[in-house]
Amino acid sequence: MMFDVIIVGGGASGLLCAITSAQRGRRVLVLDSSNKVGKKILMSGGGRCNFTNLNIKADNFLSNNPHFCKSALSRYTQWDFIALVEKYGIAYEERKHGQLFCKNSAKEILAMLLKECELAGVQIRKNCKVNSITAASEELAEKEAETYFHLDTNSGVFKSSNLVIATGGLSIPKMGATNFAYKVAKQFNIPVVTTRAGLVPFTFSDQFKTIFERLSGVSQEVIFSTEKKQFQESILFTHRGISGPAALQLSSYWNIGDSIYINLFPNNDIALLINKAKKDSPKLFLRNFFSKQLAKKLVQELEQLFWLDWRDKYITDIPDKILNSITMNLSKWELKPSGTEGYRTAEVTMGGVDTDSLSSKTMESETQNGLYFIGEAIDVSGHLGGYNFQWAWSSGYVAGLVV
Ligand SMILES: Cc1cc2nc3c(=O)[nH]c(=O)nc-3n(C[C@H](O)[C@H](O)[C@H](O)COP(=O)(O)OP(=O)(O)OC[C@H]3O[C@@H](n4cnc5c(N)ncnc54)[C@H](O)[C@@H]3O)c2cc1C
Repeated sequence: MMFDVIIVGGGASGLLCAITSAQRGRRVLVLDSSNKVGKKILMSGGGRCNFTNLNIKADNFLSNNPHFCKSALSRYTQWDFIALVEKYGIAYEERKHGQLFCKNSAKEILAMLLKECELAGVQIRKNCKVNSITAASEELAEKEAETYFHLDTNSGVFKSSNLVIATGGLSIPKMGATNFAYKVAKQFNIPVVTTRAGLVPFTFSDQFKTIFERLSGVSQEVIFSTEKKQFQESILFTHRGISGPAALQLSSYWNIGDSIYINLFPNNDIALLINKAKKDSPKLFLRNFFSKQLAKKLVQELEQLFWLDWRDKYITDIPDKILNSITMNLSKWELKPSGTEGYRTAEVTMGGVDTDSLSSKTMESETQNGLYFIGEAIDVSGHLGGYNFQWAWSSGYVAGLVV
């Protein structure tokens, strides 16, 4: 029951940390409260696991300290993980924006990690609930004090000289997410940056709730922005609001009360096209003009919102001033979400264990010897596109090198 390292949480970061440490000859135990480890790996990327990205940069991560992630990301890069995937002959493909997905199944990534654990001698205990943790100091013969951790669990008592917390964030409680990491941080007086759901769809409670319900299933490439950040990608209207890659990305930058803006014409100068249409096809209704650029169902709703009084007029009979104001509205369509779908569907948890209290080289607590936090539990969250797994691999690896 005595180990060099106990890792609580057998997800992406915990498994990579366990492999790295056990390969150095350390006795490693992984404890997980779920009946299965790596559940999020299995459900990720629509079952194909977007396991990393070819273009990993610190800019793709959000944190109170934007520099914190740099050291770990440079010591275990996307190329290191890709090499492991290739060693196992796992077929993968590059999709948009450098995203790498399994060609067949996310199961292959989990099987690879579990095989590496087995080869390195990592012990894994599932259905294991930690009731309490105590840190104690043991006087060694040479009078050096060594801290060890004492974990009281439903499967007995375990002791270790290093304790790694890899229990992730709060997203998708149904998949076994808990606030364990934050509770441990609190116990050891380590600050936690306020958490909130990230990479999550927007919800609406005003008139747009019913409008978006009617548009449910319609997808459109747009520029989606707040005052400070923008993404050009597709959005997807849903019966609850707006989802799709652009919406998920922007949600990580959005605060309650903020407006969001949609530019429905990311690739065209729409004012120019309208002027041209006015000359070339004067007997065109606006809805027919916009239907060339946008989904028909969307145009029907936009007509109700922005040019109801002009719906029966030909484009040539609409004054330029009115046309300008319509194109302005469609290029900067302002909406106020009432919220997001929250942790129930969020892909990631923003905030978490404060990076100021951890070493960026090892992930060890600055105040409690032998205690480490890795992965999503830390206040580092990636963009959509394989960045969150890369953070899990990189932070797990650097801790695994020292525990
Ligand atoms: C639907 C979905 C799809 C995603 N797709 C992608 C993707 O394609 N690409 C990408 O980069 N990222 C994706 N992510 C994000 C990614 O899954 C996470 O960022 C990543 O898994 C975090 O790794 P982690 O090791 O920190 O935590 P996790 O992988 O969440 O692992 C935490 C582990 O700790 C265990 N645990 C929790 N509480 C306790 C406790 N109290 N005691 C013991 N064990 C505990 C859990 O059972 C789990 O096994 C997705 C997330 C979701 C929800």
